[in-house]
Amino acid sequence: MFVKIKNALCEIIFPIHCVGCGTEGEWFCESCSQKILLNAKQFCPVCWRESSGGKICASCESPLSGLRVAASYQRNPELARAVKTLKYKFSEPLAENLGALLSRAVSSKNYSNERVITFVPLHKKRRRWRGFNQAELLARVTAKNLNLPLESLLIRKKNTPPQAKLNRADRLRNLEGAFMIREGCSVVDKTILLIDDVASTSSTLSECAKILKQSGAREVWGLVLARG
Ligand SMILES: [Zn+2]
Ligand SMILES: [Zn+2]
Repeated sequence: MFVKIKNALCEIIFPIHCVGCGTEGEWFCESCSQKILLNAKQFCPVCWRESSGGKICASCESPLSGLRVAASYQRNPELARAVKTLKYKFSEPLAENLGALLSRAVSSKNYSNERVITFVPLHKKRRRWRGFNQAELLARVTAKNLNLPLESLLIRKKNTPPQAKLNRADRLRNLEGAFMIREGCSVVDKTILLIDDVASTSSTLSECAKILKQSGAREVWGLVLARG
């Protein structure tokens, strides 16, 4: 609530402009978001070689079944600005337009089992500081667009330093034991679509997938806007 009031006041004092076309009144307008080119090719999230639908390739192993990356920053520089904005500004219209992009990226994909949408959680301290979790906002929009249930399945136990600053070994150590299943949640036999805003590597998504699989999930697919 406080975040919403603060944002409304800021918008009166400093008018907002679309990061794509500069139109006043929105962070990332619908017309700019619809112009984003979706990735035609997907890659194995372990070795990053091309693979059909982003499935883990035959020579790699991961608790993830695969990863779908909606678009690329190289081809859509305005997307990088929009994603960065979503991290710091609570904006429902912005989340709505970026979430629509995620829905477009998976709407053609067929999943056979019971599907549930969830998201990479923030530690409660960081969530309180920021006022929201951008992955949760995106997951909410995607669930609504795809008409799938949204479940908050994971909790972040450790307030880990940002992954981007670490090397691979430290990254994995950093994440060890960082997540747990929320009490009372059941994931047995479910196919889960796990949403985050971006993935620089797939280590955070894999760590979440590991916990979900250990608790009985059938398949866990990652879904992100871009590789950050
Ligand atoms: Zn625009
Ligand atoms: Zn691979």
